[in-house]
Amino acid sequence: MSENVVIIGSGPAGWTAAIYTARANLRPLIFEGAVTAENQEKGTLPLGQLNLTTEVENYPGFPAGNLLQYLDSALPADKRAYMAPHTGHGISGPELMELMRQQAVNFGARVVTDDIVRVDFKTHPFKLFALSGELVQAKAVIVATGARANYLGLPSEDRFKNRGVSACAVCDGALPRFRDRPLIVVGGGDSAVEEATYLSKFASRVYLVHRRDSLRASKIMQDRLFANSKITVKWNRTLEEVLGNDEKGVTGARLKSTVDDQHEEIEVSGVFLAIGHTPNTSFLEGQLELTAKGYIKWTTPARTYTSVEGVFAAGDVADDYYRQAITAAGTGCMAALDAERWLASRGEH
Ligand SMILES: Cc1cc2nc3c(=O)[nH]c(=O)nc-3n(C[C@H](O)[C@H](O)[C@H](O)COP(=O)(O)OP(=O)(O)OC[C@H]3O[C@@H](n4cnc5c(N)ncnc54)[C@H](O)[C@@H]3O)c2cc1C
Repeated sequence: MSENVVIIGSGPAGWTAAIYTARANLRPLIFEGAVTAENQEKGTLPLGQLNLTTEVENYPGFPAGNLLQYLDSALPADKRAYMAPHTGHGISGPELMELMRQQAVNFGARVVTDDIVRVDFKTHPFKLFALSGELVQAKAVIVATGARANYLGLPSEDRFKNRGVSACAVCDGALPRFRDRPLIVVGGGDSAVEEATYLSKFASRVYLVHRRDSLRASKIMQDRLFANSKITVKWNRTLEEVLGNDEKGVTGARLKSTVDDQHEEIEVSGVFLAIGHTPNTSFLEGQLELTAKGYIKWTTPARTYTSVEGVFAAGDVADDYYRQAITAAGTGCMAALDAERWLASRGEH
């Protein structure tokens, strides 16, 4: 038997697609990812990137205030039990993701806690192979497997994640711990320059740490950077260690020269990594057209169509530009409507 629609991925895009397809009576089946050591290591456990963060201040609908009672009544006790007490800050990433998941389940979405490791989109119904060995057939598929931020892999970077180390300036830059304090951005491409420029609105000073003596960023971005008196470029340096303590989180950073033996310590309250993202598309090898950076290619403007009819893509797996929860949710909705209309046009729903 074929499923109407299978959704792969469990971030805001996947759950939004699940809510919409469930409410359209499509009985979606969602593969939310497997709980494995490898996924833990990569940062791709179920519930997506927001499950790795603390406060989410920019997702509409969750103003600061006490949402405690609401959370207590909306989620089952076993899910609620392991969450940190609500701080009054609006909503945390894990809370938001559990609520999205629950909303989809309330409408009848069925969830499998497993990875899809291989797909066959060359024949219809499509075939999806799970890590457990299960084979599922689907008339339509929505891929919403997201992307993951790249880190340098330093133990100290891991220790201070969410306590001064971040990979998203737009998400975290306005948090109180970064305001009017010196910060570091690591990287040398357009996104590093963009993040440094963005953070200079909040920080007292931004150090852009780059391992070479020239930037990869476009000329216009560089001009903007060099004209910004709050940004200092630390050429030919890499981040050797994030410094800090349990009480304050990040307090500084040790940089290492890439041309001689020099080391330098600077006082900062935040370290932002801007060294790219890796889209979770390896399981699609040879099945869907990808961009040069490995993201799924949307083939039609303002639609979530991919190179295979009946396969739709939503969220960060197809978007290396906006990368926000709300944009992922937005394209998740679009993919659900696209899938529903495609199935209807074939008389399959
Ligand atoms: C630390 C951090 C803080 C952030 N803070 C904010 C913020 O404050 N506000 C904001 O708007 N955005 C924030 N973002 C960005 C936001 O999290 C992403 O834009 C958003 O989560 C993308 O959603 P998505 O649905 O595309 O996929 P993701 O959230 O990336 O989720 C995809 C998930 O799908 C699952 N998956 C992957 N591969 C497979 C597979 N093969 N089979 C089955 N399942 C699979 C995994 O569980 C994976 O995690 C933050 C990101 C990070 C890393």
